[in-house]
Amino acid sequence: MKKDVIILGAGPAGLSAAIYVERAGKTAAVLEANTFGGQIVNTPDIMNYPGIKKTSGFDFAMGLYEQATELGAEVIFDKAVKIEKRAEKDFCITGASGEIYEAGAVILATGAVNRPLGFENEKALIGHGVSYCATCDGAFFKGKDVAVNGGGNTALEDAMFLTNYCNKVYIIHRREGFRGEPKTLEALRQKENVTFILNANVTKLIAEEKDKFSVLTGVEVTDKNTGEKQEIEVSGLFIAIGQMPQNEDFADVVTLDDAGYIEAGEDTHTGTPGIYAAGDGRTKKVRQLVTAAGDGAVAALEAVNYISN
Ligand code: NAP
Repeated sequence: MKKDVIILGAGPAGLSAAIYVERAGKTAAVLEANTFGGQIVNTPDIMNYPGIKKTSGFDFAMGLYEQATELGAEVIFDKAVKIEKRAEKDFCITGASGEIYEAGAVILATGAVNRPLGFENEKALIGHGVSYCATCDGAFFKGKDVAVNGGGNTALEDAMFLTNYCNKVYIIHRREGFRGEPKTLEALRQKENVTFILNANVTKLIAEEKDKFSVLTGVEVTDKNTGEKQEIEVSGLFIAIGQMPQNEDFADVVTLDDAGYIEAGEDTHTGTPGIYAAGDGRTKKVRQLVTAAGDGAVAALEAVNYISN
């Protein structure tokens, strides 16, 4: 398959880029390894996207998908595993399926994935008490006690969402200060079923064997200042400690920083002419929905300019 621009990642940055490429009269395909929408589909309420007072992450993602595809962009469910620059305006992308995609320019909008806590039993407990997505799994914990780990917007919004279902919501955060929006934090402070455990780390996932499965029954939390440990009985732990980029497959065509983000400035240019980086996967200070969408627009216009000149 050949397109003017191939975009990797169908999150807000990638789908915004597709909209701008198509509206510029060029053809775009978006390769997506999982489902379209990226991380935002897990956000229950979006209330900070200019012009939209309130919507859900799922509805927002669906709107982007429909807008891009109705304009002519193709969304293909395949994971790009290699990018090769054969000549100027001539790129070859290999999909995990074995399919080859050719394009005049490439936009990397691969975003990031959830960061795990790193416990040995963490993976086995996913679906049995451990979750990275309150919107997806919150309803399973109706009437139960749960904990959220993290201090960013994801943790705060997850906790807020869970207060609607759960008996008790513990917010465990390693510092006193939060990165998340003060408005959400304040709203949580007003909730009767929220307990904050600050300056503390989750140091153990406590589990029990039930019906041949290991099931989470609690977490051990250690106070960072005193070293004091306490066990909290919870049926669910929602891990919201940030994301990690996933750009290793492209390290031969773009430069990655120490944390794995693609080095690119506000113009989205990577070190390789014809390859642009948009959204949470590039080096940047503010990773928000609106900045991801903005990046998508910039990268698309830069890519169109590159193939047209
Ligand atoms: P984040 O802002 O990077 O916050 C991650 C949180 O986890 C931080 O509080 C951090 O603590 C903590 N943390 C990191 N590693 C940890 C570890 N190993 N153990 C314990 N705690 C750890 O991540 P995020 O909340 O997922 O948000 C990612 C980006 O998406 C942000 O820019 C956020 O604003 C944005 N976002 C936006 C919306 C929205 O616009 N509605 C919704 C969700 C997310 P420290 O603070 O101590 O570093």
